[in-house]
Amino acid sequence: MRLCRFGDNRLGLVEDAVVRDVTGALDVLPGYRYPLPTSDQLVTHLDAVLRRARELAPDAPALPLDQVTLLSPVANPGKIVAAPVNYQKHLEEVRGDSRLHHNNPSHTAAIHTMGVFLKATSSLVGPGQGIAVCKPDRRTDHEVELAFVIGKTARHVRREDALDHIAGYAIGLDITIRGPEDRSLRKSPDTYTVLGPWLVTADEIADPDVLDLEITVNGEQRQKSNTRYLIKDVRELIVFASSFYTLHPGDVVLTGTPEGVSPIVPGDEVVATIQSVGSMRVSVRAAEEPAVDASAQNAVGEPV
Ligand code: MN
Repeated sequence: MRLCRFGDNRLGLVEDAVVRDVTGALDVLPGYRYPLPTSDQLVTHLDAVLRRARELAPDAPALPLDQVTLLSPVANPGKIVAAPVNYQKHLEEVRGDSRLHHNNPSHTAAIHTMGVFLKATSSLVGPGQGIAVCKPDRRTDHEVELAFVIGKTARHVRREDALDHIAGYAIGLDITIRGPEDRSLRKSPDTYTVLGPWLVTADEIADPDVLDLEITVNGEQRQKSNTRYLIKDVRELIVFASSFYTLHPGDVVLTGTPEGVSPIVPGDEVVATIQSVGSMRVSVRAAEEPAVDASAQNAVGEPV
């Protein structure tokens, strides 16, 4: 099944070019009082939500897919885990270009050395919300990646059990400011993690390590590869990450990007596609400039 979130936090089942509005299925979620759980509750209760969504679907309003604003299929991930250089050809590409590595040794080491990193959950948006370039004077790149969503608490998982912990798959864009700073900073501005177009439940993808993925910018192909070239494959990423910390339902894992990263600028239209998942169009705009407050003064009373 393909489960999407859209519009004003509506829940949808995607069938071909139609979205069935099954928002009522969210009524199966428990009510909460503070402190709230730190895992995503839709994914935690995914089986119950899907059961109810299937009941509602035949009589649910049908909306044309191209007329809804798609949000991230996961609203409240506890964490966004991401793999740094995890395709050999991308590693070679980074090592050969100072605009990508900025003479920072941590930028040119493969995943075996670097492990995985975390992106701020506040960076997460859906494809309909677009990317807002926050540092227009610096190079900002697209990275298309297979993303998966943890469905079951994972701690010290064995390789043969790894896929049992996945709720589903999506396309991830790991938008990146090039430069010397730590990845967690350069990849965490608002809108710099795009997840979509929907969550494809794990039962629809028998093997995540054989999927074609690609991205175009303004119709021009920039990245094209297959997840079979992952250095650490999906199972290995779960084994590795869960040996350091518990993965909770709703946690998002970005598996890393293949070669072909390139800049995006306001006005660009990006289309990302992953086999068996789908395709999503994302617009790039400039982030809003902070408003200048003419009355602002510094500590000694001078205008700032
Ligand atoms: Mn990446």
